[in-house]
Amino acid sequence: MAPGRDELYRHLAMARVQGETGELVPPALLVHGGAGAFSAIERAEQAVDLTDALAEALEAGWQLLGQAGGAPGPAGDALDAVVAAVMSLEDSGRFNAGRGAAPTLDGKVELDASVMDTTGRLGAVAAVRYPANPVRLARLVAERGGLPDGPILLAGKGADAFARANGLERMKRWRLTGIKSADASRQQPGAGSRHGTVGAVAVDRKGRLAAATSTGGRSGQMPGRVGDTPVFGAGVWADRSTVAVSATGTGEVFVVVGFAHRIDWLLREGHDLGVAMDDALAHVVARGGEGGAVVLRADGSFAARFNSRAMARGWRDRSGPVARVLDGGGPS
Ligand code: ASP
Repeated sequence: MAPGRDELYRHLAMARVQGETGELVPPALLVHGGAGAFSAIERAEQAVDLTDALAEALEAGWQLLGQAGGAPGPAGDALDAVVAAVMSLEDSGRFNAGRGAAPTLDGKVELDASVMDTTGRLGAVAAVRYPANPVRLARLVAERGGLPDGPILLAGKGADAFARANGLERMKRWRLTGIKSADASRQQPGAGSRHGTVGAVAVDRKGRLAAATSTGGRSGQMPGRVGDTPVFGAGVWADRSTVAVSATGTGEVFVVVGFAHRIDWLLREGHDLGVAMDDALAHVVARGGEGGAVVLRADGSFAARFNSRAMARGWRDRSGPVARVLDGGGPS
């Protein structure tokens, strides 16, 4: 049975939601490098490493978004900016996405990614092994498919064949994060607690919103398991009148609660962004999940909030980049 309002807010109060809400001046973008836990020993060193990677990704997106004039074509397009930012995070090898992806239970790597913008472009891939940059493949699906006839989501071998046929660069070298592949066989399905999904949301000079998310799933996941990342309305979303969302966390729960759709719906009901975000997180917590998201509206208002121990996150507008991993006292 769905939890009642009182129950939800009890969960939320226990969940210790952290992070930020604020205002940016469009054009602007936010990135995240996943929600998760950092052990006391790892924290400081890892946080510095991750904030560097976030800053690089913000710069990659800003290069496109910040172009003077916002002329038609690639320059100034929100979708190009989120794809560039996510590719940078995939290439960094520091997150559970692209080159850094965590292995499945049988030691293989399977990747999911998605893109969506407010001009009607949307595409996703699930359980792919071929491309170096799954987010580029998702973008390619968006170019070839779309609504109403699709495809909008390609999975497994068909998606890999599509990547190969279109000359996408092949993944050559994994840098396995978290557990080593030999250890993966000893994990229980879904036992991995390390997160590190990556994502970005952006608004460009024309007020177009876009979102992109990319992940290796959960470390030690069952082969074939797919979470929320390639599911529109769960791990990725962009709608002109509401919000762009890129989420990270326990994917099964984010799918079941319709995480991004829930934020969208609450904004349509007139709630403000922080309330919408915390309500959606309360539903995640009530179903036993944890995680967070970066969300952005066309007017530049944003939230980067999470109920896990930490979430790598950052944002950029013309006043410069901010990148954080821990709450409060952490590096910024
Ligand atoms: N949401 C991702 C998944 O369930 C994992 C994560 O964000 O950590 O596949």
